[in-house]
Amino acid sequence: SLKAGIVGLPNVGKSTLFNAVVENGKAQAANFPFCTIEPNVGIVAVPDPRLSILSQLSKSHRFVPASIEFVDIAGLVKGASQGEGLGNKFLSHIREVDSILQVVRCFEDNDIVHVNGKIDPKSDIDVINLELIFSDLDQIDKRLEKLRKGKAKDAQSKLKEETERSALEKIQKLLMDGKPARSVPLTDFEKDSIRHLCLLTMKPIIYVANVAETDLSEPSSNPHVREVLRLASELQSGLVSISAQVESELTELPLEERIEYLKSLGVSESGLGNLIRETYDLLGLRTYFTSGEKETKAWTILSGMTAPQAAGVIHSDFEKGFIRAETVSYDDFVAAGSLAAAREKGLLRSEGKEYVVQEGDVMLFRFNV
Ligand code: GDP
Repeated sequence: SLKAGIVGLPNVGKSTLFNAVVENGKAQAANFPFCTIEPNVGIVAVPDPRLSILSQLSKSHRFVPASIEFVDIAGLVKGASQGEGLGNKFLSHIREVDSILQVVRCFEDNDIVHVNGKIDPKSDIDVINLELIFSDLDQIDKRLEKLRKGKAKDAQSKLKEETERSALEKIQKLLMDGKPARSVPLTDFEKDSIRHLCLLTMKPIIYVANVAETDLSEPSSNPHVREVLRLASELQSGLVSISAQVESELTELPLEERIEYLKSLGVSESGLGNLIRETYDLLGLRTYFTSGEKETKAWTILSGMTAPQAAGVIHSDFEKGFIRAETVSYDDFVAAGSLAAAREKGLLRSEGKEYVVQEGDVMLFRFNV
């Protein structure tokens, strides 16, 4: 499943939010066959009504929703890229995630110390961005050094190296202006050439404004939230308002009391559901399905992924040995009533390596082992 790393300065509410995610995941785990949850990894299901419909049509024994893994990445402090705090260990954890959720403190509480002495979302966001930028610059420096030595033997590898070098130089220039790598316009070829570096500022960020419970019904009444919103749009990133405290309290209440509690705060649902949905939407995630007698399962991919890449989400062998994918849209599947019926009606397409998987596709992969 897709990984979202929770980062933020100390005392902004990361662990509180993460623990709420874990408790929520545990409650779901009673219904869904999720794998074990590691200490810093919490897994939550992405609700999707299409799953039960497909699984009825395929007479599946069970259905498995898509999930998002939330990884608690503690330890980011000023100077992390220089090795302060958990430093590089922290940064290598971020390298492995698909997206970053930065918790930004927007609640006032004099009993809880803020590392910089006051609530200041802009400074919090700048500190983290700078650390990520420093780390990327460092990596780019090293890579460019290597590329300059030019080990490429044939024309094709030379061209590849040349593409990578020019892409990195473009990125380097903007990073030095304090801008993230994702703001650099690159061709698909250039993007591919630098993918192996897993640059941190290439990853999409969602800002999670952690607000006081009294602000939940109207977060934008809080000037700190308005500031985060302004910065998020400047940085082409998303924003979700949440109260980590409320989420954590909710997990301790019986279901029927949760609704009452939320009502008393002037909201209709838990912010966690919202966070999951927003994460999904803002990251441009798509769902495709596999559906058979054993199970119907939703898989999460990034928008624009090709059929082999989508197959690779299931297993890397599926990607390596990909031959083709028998594909039918969700609507066609439901209209036909089954995969076999869709095939008879000619609605099942045989798609090759170049096919870009569409939202709701039901797929059957053919591959060499
Ligand atoms: P972390 O260092 O970012 O992981 O922060 P924690 O989750 O440990 O939270 C730091 C402190 O702030 C704890 O005492 C939390 O109970 C408190 N806290 C977290 N979220 C909220 C909130 O929304 N409102 C208030 N008032 N306190 C919060």
